[in-house]
Amino acid sequence: MLIDTHAHVNFNAYKNDSEEVIRRALAENVWMINIGSQYSTSKRAVEMAEKYEKGVYAAIGLHPIHLETGLVKMKNDIEEIQFPTIEESFDYEQYKKLAQSPKVVAIGEIGLDYYWKPKSKTKAGLFKEKQAGVLFQQIDLAKELDLPVLLHCRMAHDNLLQLLKYKLKANKLKGTIHCFTGSWEQAQKYMDMGFYLGFNGIIFKMNLDDVISKAPLDKILLETDCPYLTPLPMEGRNEPIYVKYVAEKIAKIKNISYEELTEISTQNAQKLFKI
Ligand SMILES: [Zn+2]
Repeated sequence: MLIDTHAHVNFNAYKNDSEEVIRRALAENVWMINIGSQYSTSKRAVEMAEKYEKGVYAAIGLHPIHLETGLVKMKNDIEEIQFPTIEESFDYEQYKKLAQSPKVVAIGEIGLDYYWKPKSKTKAGLFKEKQAGVLFQQIDLAKELDLPVLLHCRMAHDNLLQLLKYKLKANKLKGTIHCFTGSWEQAQKYMDMGFYLGFNGIIFKMNLDDVISKAPLDKILLETDCPYLTPLPMEGRNEPIYVKYVAEKIAKIKNISYEELTEISTQNAQKLFKI
């Protein structure tokens, strides 16, 4: 069995065939966690998961690119939602209510994303502060509900490490750094804090062999981030069953069997998400 720990079958890219995509995955013994990026996609992830007795789970959260900052103009992604993105402010109680579903296994995806940051230094500072503030609120929610976090981080690893260190002082937080593309040094710091590293099809585009070969097996999670980042040799829209290609490549880099890699990474996911 494989677990795609980061999928978005709840996104618009599957509006016509999400049930088929899920059925295909379950038939191949691939489980998935569908991840929300704002309230509407979080709610959809929960509704989808509730239709299945097991194998389909949800994570809910406000992704930093959907955070209302009033400082940058965000681009819309039609793969994600059908209508223009509404930038949101984070409503703690609303998400807490959604988390009452037993199918919600994590808070995510949340984190820092400095890709579209404003050009002026003052505005960029404010922008980073706003993202950090909402990240802290969502970490508080995860702690209150005793759920792990799914962290998204783009061009911000050093800041994220610093914020987590501060936030971890009080008590331990569990979670994963999804789509990890940082350095080995950064990877070690995350793992020292108890975080897992999530790898997906980006490993076919970027050379992460060094981090993958050094990362202990019991810290690795597999994911697709579908509909994006389709692993080779597939092309077009990504989907949870393609997680096997990510597994094959990681097994090859680590010079171990596919069976060993999948058995341990599946156990890691079951332990972290209690599924
Ligand atoms: Zn994602």
